Amino acid sequence: MINFTLRCQKDHEFEGWFKDSAAFESQNTAKGIECPVCGSHKIEKALSRPNISSGKTQSSAQAEVMRKTRKTLREFRQKIESTHENVGTRFAEEARKIHYGETELRGIYGETTGEEAKELVEEGVPIAALPWIEEAKEN
Ligand SMILES: [Zn+2]
Repeated sequence: MINFTLRCQKDHEFEGWFKDSAAFESQNTAKGIECPVCGSHKIEKALSRPNISSGKTQSSAQAEVMRKTRKTLREFRQKIESTHENVGTRFAEEARKIHYGETELRGIYGETTGEEAKELVEEGVPIAALPWIEEAKEN
């Protein structure tokens, strides 16, 4: 689909979606396009500004949202890392020890398998699964 900004003979601008440029031309020639303001059939393209809606191209707005989300997650990760101890793959073991008072109470983070996490939750060990973002350069 291609989005065209169209303009009628009275300078009313509006948008129209077409399969391709040729589809616009043929519809317009057949007077199949009408100005929503004045009903004129004398329509031309106002700008050649096609927005291709392929689902693959991110709009700048979407890219901005993704960038902010990554930034938030990165800041969150840094905060956790500065206040919690990294126990790596011993997470399930350490979380359990803390829960049962076998080791000092402290904030930890680390890796766990889905199965281990499920067992911890079933035992009543408070854990949270977080969306972890890889350390990466801002892009
Ligand atoms: Zn018009």
